[in-house]
Amino acid sequence: MNSENLISWYLENKRELPWRNTSNPYHIWISEIMLQQTKVEAVIPYYERFLELFPTIEELSQASDDSLHKAWEGLGYYSRVMNLKKAAIQCVELHHSLLPKTRDELLTLRGIGPYSAGAIASFAYHEKVAAVDGNVLRVYARLYEVEENILSDVCRKKITKLVEQDLPNDVANFNQAIMELGACICIPNGNARCNICPISSQCLAYEKGRINELPLRITNTKRRIEKHSVLVHVCNGKVQIQKRPSIGLLASLYVFEMIEGHVSKKDVGKSTYLGKHNHLFSHIEWKLKGFLIEHEQCDEKEGYIWVHLSEIQNIYPMPIALKKYRDALYEYYE
Ligand code: SF4
Repeated sequence: MNSENLISWYLENKRELPWRNTSNPYHIWISEIMLQQTKVEAVIPYYERFLELFPTIEELSQASDDSLHKAWEGLGYYSRVMNLKKAAIQCVELHHSLLPKTRDELLTLRGIGPYSAGAIASFAYHEKVAAVDGNVLRVYARLYEVEENILSDVCRKKITKLVEQDLPNDVANFNQAIMELGACICIPNGNARCNICPISSQCLAYEKGRINELPLRITNTKRRIEKHSVLVHVCNGKVQIQKRPSIGLLASLYVFEMIEGHVSKKDVGKSTYLGKHNHLFSHIEWKLKGFLIEHEQCDEKEGYIWVHLSEIQNIYPMPIALKKYRDALYEYYE
C-alpha cells in the first residue's frame, strides 16, 4: 500500500487526544493499556487522573493495590491495572525505572502483548514494527480482501505480515493513521465512509463492492449465565463489604454480600427490594437481584468489614457490575 495519502489525511484530520501530544513512553503505555476494550471518550478522564496520581513508573511500582483499583474503578478488566504495577516493578528492577525500548523487550513485561508492544515501540521509539488492533484488522481485511475469520490467529498473523510489508519510515504516524482510519472512516456495521477514505483507490473490498461482507466474523462464544442475590447490609451509617479473592473474576475488588441463586424477599426477611440488574463480562453474564437490609447492631461476620459510605466513595474500589446497588445505597443515606 502506498501510505502517503493515508499519513497526510491523518495529520490533517486526527482527533486531538491527550496521549497524542506526547512521546513519553510511560504515558503512551498507560493510554494503550486503558484503551484496550474501552472507548476513547471514557478513557480520557481516567488517563489524566491516573498520571496525576502516579506520575512515574517508580510511583506506580510502589502504589497500593487498593489505590490502583480505585483509580481504575469503572474502567473494567481490573487485571490490567495489576499487570501495570507488576510491569512497573519489572522496569524498576531490570530497566533502571524506564520502559525498555524494543518491541521484543517490551513483550517480556506483564500485560504487554504484541499489539501494545508494537504500539509503544513504534509511537515512542519509532521502531519499524506493526501494531495490529481491532481497527487495523478491519481496515486490512477490507483493503486486501482477507477471507479468514477476523477472530482467528491465522487472520491476525496474515494481517500482521501485510502491515509489516507496508510499514514506511514514518512508522509512528502510519500505525496511528491506520487505527484512526478504522476508528473514524472504515467503521463496522455497514457504515464505512468510503467516499471520503484516503485509500479507497487501493481498497479491494471497495473495488469489488464487498465492504459489507468483510471482515468475516465467526463467533462461537456463549456466555455462561450466573444468578446471584446481592445483599446490601446497612447499619448506623455503615455498609458491610467483603474483598474478593486475589485471583479470578473481579479479583481484589470489594463487593456486598453475594449469594448464589435468586432469593426472594421472604428468604431475606425485613428488607427493601432493589431490583434486578444484568451485567455482561466477556464469558459470563451475571443476573443479579438486590436487597437492602437494615441492622440495628453492626455484628461482625468473618470475611466482612463495616465501612462508612464515604470510604466506599474514596477508598474501597467496587466493580461497575454493582453500580446499581451502590447508587441505591447512596440514595438510602441521602
Ligand atoms: S475504501 Fe472503504 S472499505 Fe476500503 S479502507 Fe476505505 S473506508 Fe475501508
